Amino acid sequence: MQGLMQDWPLTVDRILDHAKRWNGAREVVTRSVEGPLVRTTYAEIHDRAKRVSNVLKGWGIKTGDRIATLAWNTGRHMEAWYGIMGIGAVCHTLNPRLFPEQLAYIINHAEDRVIFTDLTFVPLLEAVLPHCPTVERVVVMTDELTMPVCKLPRAECYEALLADASADCAWGGFSEETACGLCYTSGTTGDPKGVLYSHRSNFLHTLITLQADVMGASSKDVILAVVPMFHANAWGLAFSAPAVGAKLVMPGARMDGASIHELLETEGVTYSAAVPTVWQGLLLHLRQTGAKLSTLKKVLIGGSAVPEAMIRIFHDEYGVEVVQGWGMTETSPVGTIGNMNHEYAHLPFEEQVQHRVKQGRPPLGIDLKLKNDEGQTLPHDGQTFGRLMVKGPTVAARYFKNVGGDILDNEGYFDTGDVATIDGRGYMQITDRAKDVIKSGGEWISSIDIENIAVGHPKVALAAVIGAPHPKWDERPLLLVKLHEGQTAQPQEFLDHLQGKIAKWWMPDAVEFVDEIPLGATGKIDKKILRERFKDYRFQ
Ligand code: ADP
Repeated sequence: MQGLMQDWPLTVDRILDHAKRWNGAREVVTRSVEGPLVRTTYAEIHDRAKRVSNVLKGWGIKTGDRIATLAWNTGRHMEAWYGIMGIGAVCHTLNPRLFPEQLAYIINHAEDRVIFTDLTFVPLLEAVLPHCPTVERVVVMTDELTMPVCKLPRAECYEALLADASADCAWGGFSEETACGLCYTSGTTGDPKGVLYSHRSNFLHTLITLQADVMGASSKDVILAVVPMFHANAWGLAFSAPAVGAKLVMPGARMDGASIHELLETEGVTYSAAVPTVWQGLLLHLRQTGAKLSTLKKVLIGGSAVPEAMIRIFHDEYGVEVVQGWGMTETSPVGTIGNMNHEYAHLPFEEQVQHRVKQGRPPLGIDLKLKNDEGQTLPHDGQTFGRLMVKGPTVAARYFKNVGGDILDNEGYFDTGDVATIDGRGYMQITDRAKDVIKSGGEWISSIDIENIAVGHPKVALAAVIGAPHPKWDERPLLLVKLHEGQTAQPQEFLDHLQGKIAKWWMPDAVEFVDEIPLGATGKIDKKILRERFKDYRFQ
């Protein structure tokens, strides 16, 4: 027997419709790419997104066509998102930190017809687009005064287009299974692969993240979305903030410590989300200037492991709660979240820290299991580590154009490529990416654990641990340290710092100082480059 409830497809255009109708005057503040702060509202964003839809329809864009954005987090970028998705086209977010050849590959693979971009990326597109035959037009998201003379094919000025377009446009009217977003994983292994979100999966992801034990945004919040819209959908913030009518602050092109701090303070931000490197920049700025955080209450940090020292500094010096999240492009992206459960919430901070360094528990809508290489399910004892498998309505079932073929196991779980433990309370902890784990004499060493302790040393700006070849043990850990500017140090200082905090046989066999630790397109340490650089390394 079927239920007798209304047919109301879960399409994301309804999120902005709701925001306009019930929280229309709530502000969206952007540090514009041109410079000044721009204040707008959900009602205005809705109006302008409808104009974007009409512009696209005028160009013959239909359901299923891919429309790309290569843009910072701004109100305009949000308008473009909803304008594209509202008519059933697919919004393909491009990551500007990719190499031009990777961008060209992705644009061609997606067969993007139009690209919305910021002034910043015009030169990049001028270099890339001669290799991308499917792109018919580029919309530069600026006004006529600042519209550059450029070599792009069919460059259009965003504000001029919107001024001429009608705001009257019907959204929706298609199934909730319709594709609405496309995001390629950065392809640290093999070619980039496209994750094709549906309206339903993004709508459900919004509801999942709004649970109190997940991100739990509320209309009272002022949210600074630092995590880019091109990095796994800004962890859903461009959906969840309008869904509840939170004020949204967008940092545009400036994500350095001073710029972030200014926005946090001037806009009264209560909640923010970004990868650890962004917060390192902010904390350094605060240390150098003695500035404080007067309104910020909570930060969500994910994308790579959060060092314990960072959790402590935020708590001890600024009274800000760090919540760690784990996820990936393939999981929309939220997979687990490290909020304290009923048993831990009332414990003193000192006792919570051991749980806060873990990546957290799965919310309703996500299921996890650990598997060994033979496919057996492993226990949740906090000790046994295995491949982390994930399942749910917001997890990819296959990649765009079926690249890589079947990606689920026989129980429908997706292999994340991460190695993890899960403890008796359901807290998952990432040991490593499977390809980064160090194999020493047949045993595994977690590079993440060592790095996290090493960056707690006051002289360390960034640390990476890789497995370097060893004649007896196959691989041994090599600690690479980038010092804070002006610091000098001896290798032994860092080994002393690790002493007693990790198992003896995990102790790095050597410490090398480096000027730079390469970061990939999503702000994570690029271990592939480091391994290549140190492949002939000889331990003394
Ligand atoms: P990529 O960076 O490869 O494009 P994602 O941004 O989707 O792709 O990255 C997902 C990966 O990032 C996860 O599989 C995991 O290895 C890592 N990751 C994400 N969050 C965390 C975290 N809190 N701690 C440790 N690793 C994390």
